Amino acid sequence: MSTVHVVARIRPLLNDETENNIIVKAEGNVVSIPNPRNKDEIFKFPFNAVHGMEADQAAMFSEVSPALKHLFAGNDVQVFAYGVTGTGKTHTMRGGKQAAQRGIIPRLLHAIFRRKKELEKKSGGETKVSVVMTYFEIYNDKVFDLFSPTSKRTPAGLPVRECDKKTIVVGLTEKAVSSPAEFEELYDKANDNRSTSATKLNAHSSRSHAITCVKVIIEGKEGTKAGTVSAIDLAGSEDNRRTANDKERMLESQSINRSLFVLAQCVDAIAKKQSRIPFRDSKMTRILSLGQNNCKTIMILNLAPTVAYHLDTISSLNFANRAKKIETKEVEHETFQAPPPPTQAQVAAANRQPLRPV
Ligand code: ADP
Ligand code: MG
Repeated sequence: MSTVHVVARIRPLLNDETENNIIVKAEGNVVSIPNPRNKDEIFKFPFNAVHGMEADQAAMFSEVSPALKHLFAGNDVQVFAYGVTGTGKTHTMRGGKQAAQRGIIPRLLHAIFRRKKELEKKSGGETKVSVVMTYFEIYNDKVFDLFSPTSKRTPAGLPVRECDKKTIVVGLTEKAVSSPAEFEELYDKANDNRSTSATKLNAHSSRSHAITCVKVIIEGKEGTKAGTVSAIDLAGSEDNRRTANDKERMLESQSINRSLFVLAQCVDAIAKKQSRIPFRDSKMTRILSLGQNNCKTIMILNLAPTVAYHLDTISSLNFANRAKKIETKEVEHETFQAPPPPTQAQVAAANRQPLRPV
């Protein structure tokens, strides 16, 4: 059994924030924060790791990179960023353009391609590694493909179905990626797509869950194995009751509240080992499926250091504290027998199959 690996990250101060407003502190692997009702009482939340304001992007990636071994053994990995809007989720997952500012997702892709090259070279060309990606967002409980131009997205979004006890999004565009440069180009374009709708929909990006799935397929002498890493930049977990009373915002708030509420219920149910986990109650939790067999889950808890976020920070810390009790079953991985080479018709059919998100 392994549990969800929970890593907290406290972001640095931004423009108008001042040192004397800092209330959240990193002390070893513990986050400390005063009780909002009694400032003399300090709450302490231990996690697997805690990164303070000075932590750089490389330090965050070091929490994820050990899971690459698991991925290349044909297993699934899931990394998600949880926190209030403005705490650094997108910075942590996507980051900036400069190499030092790159976030977990581009670093993952770079590391996958490095490993692919090593493996292929070591096997003398007998092993072949291919990488396929999907990128989508869940907005108002509907799934939209970020690899498809905005104009092609239907208002109802893409259907989500259960297939072999796994959740799949039907009709997602799959992109085969063969180099870090190719990835950068695809990813930037998709993110531009996302930002275009952001200006129209007013901070839309903090109100949707963005999910990047990267499937690594390893074909060797002993057969084929495949693992998928999913990286999720969740919608802001702030108390949306404080948002303005406008119809569109209300609908968004209800759906963010609902999906994050269901996520919290799932986390509670799994932690308490209840038999019914309410995964099916929202698309995000159906797709996330925490605690499933053989999936390594890393949760990044993004926190702002200042008093302006006090209550939301406490609620995020409580959520992460429950999440860390989730256990996932480890099942011995089986390599499939090498199948006979596929016919052209089978290849065409396989290409129409949607990529399975974790
Ligand atoms: P979220 O996605 O949680 O809403 P963002 O990632 O957009 O938050 O971060 C909010 C702001 O804080 C952005 O301007 C971002 O560049 C900045 N920021 C967040 N984390 C860091 C960090 N570790 N170092 C420098 N700037 C950061
Ligand atoms: Mg964001």
